[in-house]
Amino acid sequence: MPSLLGWVNDKIVRLDEFHPNLLNHALELMHQTWETLVVFDPDFEVRNIKQGTKDEVRLSVKERHQLTDRYILHNHPVPGPFSPRDISICATYDISRAYRIEPNGVLSVMEKPTKGWPRELMFLSEDTLLDLYMLAMNDDLEEYDVQLERIACEFKIEYWKVKIQ
Ligand SMILES: [Zn+2]
Repeated sequence: MPSLLGWVNDKIVRLDEFHPNLLNHALELMHQTWETLVVFDPDFEVRNIKQGTKDEVRLSVKERHQLTDRYILHNHPVPGPFSPRDISICATYDISRAYRIEPNGVLSVMEKPTKGWPRELMFLSEDTLLDLYMLAMNDDLEEYDVQLERIACEFKIEYWKVKIQ
């Protein structure tokens, strides 16, 4: 069973608000060397589990449209922030909340803004995401995270991280 303590910004916090289904799946995905996507209903009942390769999970058109108003969790076998593609998929398919787990136990969360996802984040060709892509390509993950936080702030997207182990 997962610990009920975690760290947010280096402060120890209780994780009671995390649903056990979410934590159990996050712990299972954490050390996988391939990506897996878990789709939950807002009450954390699992709707779909899809395994992918080391850097992507392919979904059919039908599966993509089933993401709307749901929560998704996926792992990044190589530590790194939400990718431009992750952000674009959240905006395009109107996902309510996205969780991402890294092998080091860092769980990031991105919430749909109250006003909905901005159109600027829907397509990978948009400037906002192209900038992120360039930073990712250059392996500048520190600057990438700074930019991601800036985008989250600009579009009022809740974006935060917690360490679950
Ligand atoms: Zn991803």
